[in-house]
Amino acid sequence: MLKVRSLENQDFELIQEAEKVIEKNYRYGRHHIGSAVRTASGKVYAAVHVEANVGRITVCGEAMAIGKSISEGDHEFDTIVAVAHPHPHENMEKCWVVAPCGMCRELISDYGKDTDVIITYNGELVKCNVMGLLPEKYTSELE
Ligand SMILES: [Zn+2]
Repeated sequence: MLKVRSLENQDFELIQEAEKVIEKNYRYGRHHIGSAVRTASGKVYAAVHVEANVGRITVCGEAMAIGKSISEGDHEFDTIVAVAHPHPHENMEKCWVVAPCGMCRELISDYGKDTDVIITYNGELVKCNVMGLLPEKYTSELE
């Protein structure tokens, strides 16, 4: 069973930062996911996903947020979250938290095995260690 923990105030603030970045930059067919990562230094970096006409070229919001953080010299990650912005035809008003895709689970854990991820679990917002989302992760090292 997945080990989860309750969110703290700073986690709700992180969700808000992810919402802010996608609310500001939402474009149908281009950007509908926002992500925010809090680093060990306490800074928050937020970014949107970058969609391409050829779907597999699309870059996830988590990768963009991690890349933004690293580019600013912040390499240690504490917590990450991604939210989806509704499309006009979806009849929804608010963003919602989405779990990282499999590739992002790999990426997040490659850059910090202690990183927490905010997800919805059994209908509740919680956080868990990224390794809990990626059992028996690929490694090129001998264990
Ligand atoms: Zn992803």
